[in-house]
Amino acid sequence: MQIYLDGKFVPKEEAKVSVFDHGYLYGDGVFEGIRAYHGRVFKLTEHLDRLYESAKTLMLDIPLTWKEMEATVLETVRRNNLWDAYIRIVVSRGEGDLGLDPRKCPQPTVVIIADKITLYPKELYTQGLKVVTVATRRNHAEALNPRIKSTNYLNNIIAKMEANHLGYAEVLMLNSEGYVVEGTGDNVFIYRNGRLVTPPAHVGILKGVTRQTVMDLAQEMGIPVAEEVFTRHDVFNAEECFMTGTAAEIIPVVEVDGRGIGSGKPGPLTQKLTEAYRALTKVSGTPVYADLEKGGAVIGD
Ligand code: PMP
Repeated sequence: MQIYLDGKFVPKEEAKVSVFDHGYLYGDGVFEGIRAYHGRVFKLTEHLDRLYESAKTLMLDIPLTWKEMEATVLETVRRNNLWDAYIRIVVSRGEGDLGLDPRKCPQPTVVIIADKITLYPKELYTQGLKVVTVATRRNHAEALNPRIKSTNYLNNIIAKMEANHLGYAEVLMLNSEGYVVEGTGDNVFIYRNGRLVTPPAHVGILKGVTRQTVMDLAQEMGIPVAEEVFTRHDVFNAEECFMTGTAAEIIPVVEVDGRGIGSGKPGPLTQKLTEAYRALTKVSGTPVYADLEKGGAVIGD
C-alpha cells in the first residue's frame, strides 16, 4: 500500500507522523472520507470543498491547492490500483511543541490513504438498524461546530460508547435542545405524509455529501424534501427512517428507543432511494484512470 505523506508516496510501514503533531496531541486537524466506485471517485468536488471549508474555519492552511489535492487523491488511488476504494484525507496542524498554540506549528501534515472498502454486513440493509438516543448531546455549534469535519471525534465516540454499553451499534444524537440531529457518523432522514425531512444545518450537523445526494435524488423522484427541526416524537411516528453517509450509503432505521418505525421493516421509499443511489454511484464520479476519461471499455467495471 502506497500512502501519500507530505509530498511523497511511501509504503504503509514508512508512513509515520511525529508524536509532536497537534493532530495527535490535540485532535487539531480536518479530514474527509470519500469513496471510489468502479474507478471513479464519487462526489470528489463536494468532499474537497468541505475539506477546504473546514480548514478555513480552523485557520489551517492546506499546503496543496484544491486542484493539487484533487490530482493527488486520484494519483493515490491509481498507485494502489484500486477500482472500489475508501479514501481518507487527513490534514493535521503539524508538528509543534507541547503547548496547544497552533502558531507554533508552521507546516500542516497532509496524509492521503486509499484502501479497499469493507462493506457493512448485508443484513444491515435488509433488516435495518435498531438505534437508541443517549445522554451525551451533539456538540453545541457555538462550542465546536459539527459542520467542521475535524479530527476530534470524541463527542461522537462518547455517544457511540454509550450505545455500545446498552447493546446497540448506533445512536440517534440529539442537540442540547432535544432536537434530533444525526448519527455518530451519518445524517438522518424521516419520511411521513409524502414528505422527506432532514434536520437543517443550524441545529448542529455535519452537512453530509450523501445527505445532499439523497435530497437531490428524492427531488428528481418528485418527492418533496424539507430541512426542518424535529424531535424523537416525530421519528417514532414516521413511516420510514434512514441514515446516510459515504461509507454506509443509505441504511434503514427500523427501531428507535424501542419503538418500531413504520412497519418495523425497511420502507419502500428507503429501498427506492437505495437503488437510485447505487445506480448513480455506478456512472458518476471523477475518473481515476485515463480509459474512463475517454469513455473506453474498462477492466474491473
Ligand atoms: N455526520 C457525521 C458526524 C459524519 O462523520 C459523517 C460522515 N463523514 C456524516 C454525517 C455523513 O457525511 P457524508 O455523507 O459526507 O459521508
